[in-house]
Amino acid sequence: MKEKELRQRTRCVNCDLLIGETRVPLFYVLRIERHAIDLNAVQRKAGLGSFLGSPMLATVMGPDEEMTRPIMEPMTVTICERCAIQPVILAAIVEQGQEQRNKKESDGNEEIKSHA
Ligand SMILES: [Zn+2]
Repeated sequence: MKEKELRQRTRCVNCDLLIGETRVPLFYVLRIERHAIDLNAVQRKAGLGSFLGSPMLATVMGPDEEMTRPIMEPMTVTICERCAIQPVILAAIVEQGQEQRNKKESDGNEEIKSHA
């Protein structure tokens, strides 16, 4: 990880501390995606499997279609070592990650305005 990327990963999404403040120079970078299973696609695949008599044949013979739909933009978050060894609620991590992303975007916009 180069300096520029490290600077974007300095704050833990869970405890909001800078990685340097946690006194452990280790952290995790997690990519989070949220998907919904496409039940129609699953039913088509299961129907083809029953028609052909084998789910494996349906996998090989059927269309290689998406079985899920992403329902949020993928998100990359930083988790400090201290938070990584505690139970966390993933939905709360996603919420905090979106707040951090919005804050970074608004800080970036203010920086652009101040230079204008
Ligand atoms: Zn943390």
